[in-house]
Amino acid sequence: MQTDIVRVELGSRSYDVRIADGLIDRAGAEIAPFLRRRRAAIVTDETVGALHLARLQAALSAHGIDSTALALPPGEGTKAWPQFTRCVEWLLDQKVERKDLVIAFGGGVIGDLVGFAAAVLRRGVGFVQIPTSLLAQVDSSVGGKTGINAPQGKNLIGAFHQPTLVLADIGLLGTLTPRDFLSGYGEVAKYGLLGDEAFFTWLEKNGPALAAGDVAARQYAVKRSVEMKAEIVARDETEEGDRALLNLGHTFCHALEHATGFGDRLLHGEGVAVGCALAFELSMRLGLCSQEAPSRVRAHLRAMGMKVDIADIKGDLPSAEGLLALMAQDKKVVDGQLRFILARGIGESLVASDVPGDVVLALLTDALRGR
Ligand code: NAD
Repeated sequence: MQTDIVRVELGSRSYDVRIADGLIDRAGAEIAPFLRRRRAAIVTDETVGALHLARLQAALSAHGIDSTALALPPGEGTKAWPQFTRCVEWLLDQKVERKDLVIAFGGGVIGDLVGFAAAVLRRGVGFVQIPTSLLAQVDSSVGGKTGINAPQGKNLIGAFHQPTLVLADIGLLGTLTPRDFLSGYGEVAKYGLLGDEAFFTWLEKNGPALAAGDVAARQYAVKRSVEMKAEIVARDETEEGDRALLNLGHTFCHALEHATGFGDRLLHGEGVAVGCALAFELSMRLGLCSQEAPSRVRAHLRAMGMKVDIADIKGDLPSAEGLLALMAQDKKVVDGQLRFILARGIGESLVASDVPGDVVLALLTDALRGR
């Protein structure tokens, strides 16, 4: 199958996202033009490392590129100071210099953590994203947001640091667990919901084949998602305006992730899916969209076998007031006002900073009562 190339246009910091099945076998050829000397430091997680690292290193060495690798524990818990410190100190031990490249080889956790390490190492070294989860391919590897979590909340420590190149190998998605795959699908559906109804309609039709392993469908979904993200990021790199639309569902998601301990109870993309359903329900309650829109969102997520309602999250959760307080911690708060991404319909999102707190509270109360 052909390679799709999406250009992220950011002036001197522009870069390509290359998308193809089997791309990591060509990683040496793809990366070599960006290297000043033929060496690279790879950071991965233990799961991805065990499955795919040998193939990546073989592809690099076929082009005379020496590589060393560090594997961090898998999971969201890694995205915090202790593993971050370990990663930065390991990169210093590898004598990574200003003009060397660091390779982030893994899901969004690795991409965010390693990108942030690259941003601060020697005041900034280049890095290549080789995203291996669906979520990382369609979202976190593109756009330059890097960082780690703090006890006070998610992604509160970080930097904007754009990669030099992104290589998305569709074939690697084949080893994801169905749960991790579907979690990433939450972000894919988000793109249709926020700005492209035709894409959402395509997903309603092709989503099941995509989940079942159809590589062509996966490649199309990754390409379309990346195109949408690249276009928004090019317009608003540092989230002064339109980039906030990419946060559809995320204000709810971050509060739910916080409440469930940023772990296995609720994966990020699962929280995005639940958050999107809540954002459409809120939009309907505020009279912005018809009743049909949230029903269609929920029906598709349900058909894909995803978490849709707060009731699908196992275990205890805070009260509605508690969840609202967690939302107020979110970094999308501007001058103390909660910002929500709402919708006039499927594919028509908008940023709203004047949502009445009592409507949100009533929505959360009803959602928790459904449990
Ligand atoms: P993750 O990195 O934890 O990966 C999920 C799981 O899949 C892990 O256990 C990992 O080991 C495993 N995995 C990854 N690739 C695999 C493969 N090919 N085969 C088998 N297993 C594989 O999580 P994620 O869902 O990729 O990313 C979530 C993170 O991304 C969150 O921390 C979120 O905040 C962040 N994020 C960042 C941005 C951004 O713009 N920077 C955007 C969205 C999400």
